Order: sequence, then structure tokens, then C-alpha cells
Amino acid sequence: MNRLSVSAAKKQGQGSVTVAGFVHNKRVHKGVVFVDLRDLSGLLQLVVLESEVTAYQAVEGLNLESVLEASGILQEKPAKKGAEPGEKDFELLVKEIKVLSSAAEQLPIQVLQKIDNEADLDNRLNWRFLDLRKEEHRLIFSVWTELEKGFRKYFSDQNFFQIYTPTLMSTASETGADVFAVKYFERQAYLSQSPQFYKQMAMAAGMEKVFMVGPVYRAEKSFTNRHVTEFTGLDFEISYIASHEDVMKTEEEMLVAGFQALAEKNLPLEFAVPTLPFPRLTLAEVKAKLAAKGIKSEADDDLNPEEERAICALVKEEMNHDFIFVTDYPVSARPFYHMRHEDNPQLTKSFDLLYQGIEITTGAQREHRVEVLEAQALEKGMNLEELADYLNFFRFGCPPHGGVGIGPARIIMKLLGLGNIKEAIFLPRDVKRLNP
Ligand code: ATP
Repeated sequence: MNRLSVSAAKKQGQGSVTVAGFVHNKRVHKGVVFVDLRDLSGLLQLVVLESEVTAYQAVEGLNLESVLEASGILQEKPAKKGAEPGEKDFELLVKEIKVLSSAAEQLPIQVLQKIDNEADLDNRLNWRFLDLRKEEHRLIFSVWTELEKGFRKYFSDQNFFQIYTPTLMSTASETGADVFAVKYFERQAYLSQSPQFYKQMAMAAGMEKVFMVGPVYRAEKSFTNRHVTEFTGLDFEISYIASHEDVMKTEEEMLVAGFQALAEKNLPLEFAVPTLPFPRLTLAEVKAKLAAKGIKSEADDDLNPEEERAICALVKEEMNHDFIFVTDYPVSARPFYHMRHEDNPQLTKSFDLLYQGIEITTGAQREHRVEVLEAQALEKGMNLEELADYLNFFRFGCPPHGGVGIGPARIIMKLLGLGNIKEAIFLPRDVKRLNP
């Protein structure tokens, strides 16, 4: 197809051209049909005169969202009200139409209508391919594409390896809770909740710096606006760190690189590239700040969603920052493999990163000394036999290391001000949703 995009055709200006796209809107008048043709680059008005008999007959009864190829002469249109001086607009005087695909009359959701009905999210997701025909919804994927480009550039500049780890496991990772079991020939297998152990294996393999982007599964019966059962995780792990501080430094630099890449793209989106360093507060400091504001704490060792929102609001007010690292969580709130502070073994060298009111990352320095790791696992009531493969990673020399697990959909949700993480995912999976 010798097709130009709508924006390329307008740039080329007056003359013969072929364009193709969806029928966004259509107006039938006496002797002429106007079609607003939509492609990824924009809208173009097609003028189909009754005198072009074949073309006219093809479009006259055509339903919205059908797909057309149209050829004709691009001609200048009278300038729109409020147009800049010298700004030109064009329409296509159609000579030939090919209907590439005709749409059924009743659309299950409207594409033309600008405003979303919030209550309609379920239906939107049922008809996600129609929902994504709206430019403002496709923006999600432009944002993720640019952010990830920036993250990858950062990783590449810093000489990280990219790895892919298996999601089918023979044992339920970590705690065994919230894991999907699947039939694996004659055995039972489990879907991975995190690539954590395998990233650590890469450290034991001497790879020093690795990152990965891949699926993560959580069999949690959560009905919140920030949980799904399958999500794309962004993870990295680095060796020869002095403490979790080195991990936080890497993460904040990586995030800034992503936001910078996004800023360079000039998408229709308002945001600021965050400044370095991100604020850091220990969990104890956060609790004290919240208590001073009269915000009640449910548990000493963790933050609930309300506390996460409140501390982010405070940090925004006091430090004008959207991010905050909360560090030094107590042992009770963290898994066995988080390293503990030498001078206070009740606290771990761990952190969460919060962004605009929600947790987007958990990170830590990991315990790499096998005898300490075993003792900590036993203390948490874990079975060392089930951890045998994992523990082996640390028996033959392993550098000190740490890393993070990030949920990029939560970043996108907040960046775009979406009400639910599911809107930030191409096709979400939740407790009830396995289709389409
Ligand atoms: P939460 O406390 O919010 O349930 P978590 O502590 O279980 O999260 P981690 O296991 O530390 O989360 O996972 C790392 C990151 O992955 C989180 O910070 C979050 O961004 C993302 N994440 C975790 N669980 C989910 C989920 N069910 N849906 C979407 N993203 C998630």
C-alpha cells in the first residue's frame, strides 16, 4: 500500500495522496459525505462527492470504526477559527475508496466520545482493543516505551547484563503463600512471584550488574486499585555494594534517566523530572513525622496505604519531591534474606520507594554469607531443604550485593493520574479477569 500517514500527507501538502485509517466520524449531507479519517498520527477530513459514484456508494452506508483506504487530491481548507497566521489545514477530495474492513453497527464502547465513564472500566477492559483506539489511552504505552528506553540506556551506559529468568519453578518461592500452582506434566509447578533468587544467582555467577523486565505472578485476592495478579516487573541486582545506600543511588539515577527520556519526547503530559537525590527517611522517622500530624499507625513495622499517602503528601509539602525512600524496616516486616544492620540487628538494610502516595519498589542489601542466611531462614521458620538450590548460590563465594523489584505500572498509573493500575496495563489480569 503506497500510503502516507495523515500527518505526513498534511506535511507534503497539496497534491495526490493515499491515506488509510479508521472512520472516526461521518456526516452525510445532500450530495456529499464527510468522513473524519483517523490514523495514529491524527485526523483528516475526506470529502466524498456524489459525482464520485463508486466512492460515494462505498462510504454512504459505512459504519463508524470501519477501516478505509482513500486516494484523491489533498487540498487546502479554509483556516480554522483561532488558527495561527499561516497555519494550513487540509482535506482530501476523494477519487477512490477501498473498504479494507467494515465495522458492525453497534459499537460495544464508543471511540468518538472523549470522556471516560469511570464506572465503565470493566466494560472498557472487555473491549480493550476499542478502548485503546483513543489517543489518550494509547498515551500509556508511549509513556512506558519512553521510560523504559531511558532505563535501558542507563543500564547499558552502566554495563549491566540483561537476563531473562524462568517463571516456572519447582518450589513455591519464598514464603509459599500467594503462589499460583500449575500442572507440569506429572508434577506440580509454581509461577514465580519474583525473579529475586535468580538475579542473586547472577551475582553468584560473577555477573556483577543485571537487570530484567518480565512477568511476575501474585495469587493474592486483592481488590485494590494497585494490585493485579500478573504484572511486569522491572528488577535489577548489583554486586560489591557497601550497603543498601548504593542500591538506592542506582535506582534513583535509573528513574531520573527514564523521566529524562520521557521529557525529551514532548508527549501531551505534565510532569517534572525528579531531582537527585531523592529524600530518604527511616521507617522510625516516618512514623514519628506521621504521629506528630496525628496520623495513627496500625503496625510499627510497616506502612499501611493511608500512611503511604500521608508521608508522600508531607514530603511533597516540605521537600517538594514526589519520591521518598523509606529505609531500615524491622526484621519482622522483611524476608529472611534481607541483610541486617551490624549495630542494630533488629533492623534490615532495606527500603521501599514511594511515589505520589504508593509503594513502587522494594529493595535491600541481601545477606550473602550462607551461615547467616541459614540462621535467618530458620529463625523465620523456613525449611532449609526447600531452599537448598538457593542456598547453594552462596556456598562457593558470592560478592555482597543488593537490588530492587519495581512495579512500573504503578509508576505509570501515578504519572498519568489514572484511578486504577489496570488502566496502565495492556490487558490486566485480576482475581476475576482472565479474558480477553
Ligand atoms: P504491596 O505491599 O503493595 O502489596 P509488595 O510489598 O507485595 O507490594 P513486592 O513484593 O516488594 O511488593 O514487589 C515489588 C514491587 O512490585 C512493588 O513495590 C510494586 O511496585 C509491585 N507490585 C507488587 N505486587 C503487585 C501487584 N499485585 N500488582 C502490581 N504491582 C505489584
